[in-house]
Amino acid sequence: THHTPDFTFDNSYARELDGFYVPWEGDKVPEPRIVLLNAELAEALNLDADALDSDEGAAILAGARAPDGAETLAQAYAGHQFGGFSPRLGDGRAILLGEVIDRDGNRRDLHLKGSGRTPFSRGGDGKAVLGPVLREFVIGEAMHALGIPTTRALSAVTTGETVWRESAKPGAVLARVAASHLRVGTFQFFAARGERDRVRQLAEYAIARHDPALAGTDDRYLGFLRAVIRRQAALIAQWMHVGFVHGVMNTDNMTISGETIDYGPCAFIDTFDAKAVFSSIDHGGRYAYGKQPVIAQWNLARLAETLVPLLHEDQEEAVRLATEELEEFPEIYSAQWLDGARAKIGLTEGDDSDIGFVNALYAAMSGQSVDHTLFFRHLPDAIAGDETVVTDLFDDASAIREWLPHWRERLAREGRDPADRRSAMAAVNPIYIPRNHKVEEALTAAETEGDMGPITRLLEVLRAPYQERAGLEDYARPAPRDFGPYKTYCGT
Ligand code: AMP
Ligand code: MG
Ligand code: MG
Repeated sequence: THHTPDFTFDNSYARELDGFYVPWEGDKVPEPRIVLLNAELAEALNLDADALDSDEGAAILAGARAPDGAETLAQAYAGHQFGGFSPRLGDGRAILLGEVIDRDGNRRDLHLKGSGRTPFSRGGDGKAVLGPVLREFVIGEAMHALGIPTTRALSAVTTGETVWRESAKPGAVLARVAASHLRVGTFQFFAARGERDRVRQLAEYAIARHDPALAGTDDRYLGFLRAVIRRQAALIAQWMHVGFVHGVMNTDNMTISGETIDYGPCAFIDTFDAKAVFSSIDHGGRYAYGKQPVIAQWNLARLAETLVPLLHEDQEEAVRLATEELEEFPEIYSAQWLDGARAKIGLTEGDDSDIGFVNALYAAMSGQSVDHTLFFRHLPDAIAGDETVVTDLFDDASAIREWLPHWRERLAREGRDPADRRSAMAAVNPIYIPRNHKVEEALTAAETEGDMGPITRLLEVLRAPYQERAGLEDYARPAPRDFGPYKTYCGT
């Protein structure tokens, strides 16, 4: 039985932020067809997955038809891209379909990426293609299952159009769900134009949406800055612990909510390497794995600058206050990171000597071909004394052999039940991550043969990343040597 997909929209952005967007509709497309639908997420959003999985649903999720109650729009934002400021970016190939309230009472944006040109398109065609859309789908779901705050995909739809990239590609649209699409760059857009009242209005909106406890308090703008800093510090620490490299940490790709957004040229590291870069355009290594915390702080400084006019009548004092908050970032980040590192190696209690101890472990891994994910996953095997499972992963195991006895000594001091420790470690060290070669294999099958089997299986595997299952050995293995160095591309 066919019924119309129903949305209960409550469009606060459209209602409260007139002037922060352009009302805009998606393009008509020849043949919208759903290729992936996230039924579990649909249900969580109070949407009827069966109703969505229809011709009408496909047209809506392609942006080609606006459902009842939609006030679709393109959001304005600016951004620093690779350090250079672009005053006018905005939704160049996307629209906000509307906001819904999910089962837990949380407000969620429904956003369509690839829905056609908008007033913010500049030279672009406003389109997206299937490979990158599926990539964003699968990596977002993997991040979510890993417990990392992220935007998520509701659907991937092919449009029946041919979109020209380096060759002819199938056009596609991603439906993206987010706590909001407020970015550092949204603040920058209005700050750069000297529109201080608009920055204030945006800050009030962001506070009401993401930090309601601060609403109406005297120092709410400073509190808001602090809250964003804390969320981002926690987020980046989580990225580092799973080996995630975002690849394009421009300020327009950094959220106020603390969710990961925009999976373009991202990738996961195999071996632990602070210099790891995958993006074909990141020649200077600005967004290398090990630089992510520093870049996050740089981006947060750009947010702080936009808020300075709101912080204090005396602007010198305002700068001092903002600077004080920003200077907290390294400490907050380090504390978050160290907590995560302790959990990864099975420690529960903090100790002042931990930082040196943990750093010694990373120093031992550095410059080695050891697989980051497998090392931590197999580490519990080295407790009982079978070190070879771990040491065999290294080219030169001398440093790790020296570290392991110190670690066992430290564990012994905690006197934790070994079975408890083992399961706690397995709950924070994934066995399955989106291995670059597996992602590529799945995208190639979908793009070239229309075969959704590999990506569907990959999604299933990644939805339970901490739970080892028989028959999935291939998903846990590092890339074969002949896969070679991995390159990713953005703006596709
Ligand atoms: P990104 O690098 O994905 O964060 O995108 C940066 C900016 O480029 C945003 O304003 C996007 O909307 C815009 N953009 C990216 N791809 C396209 C495209 N194919 N057509 C129009 N605008 C685009
Ligand atoms: Mg972006
Ligand atoms: Mg992008």
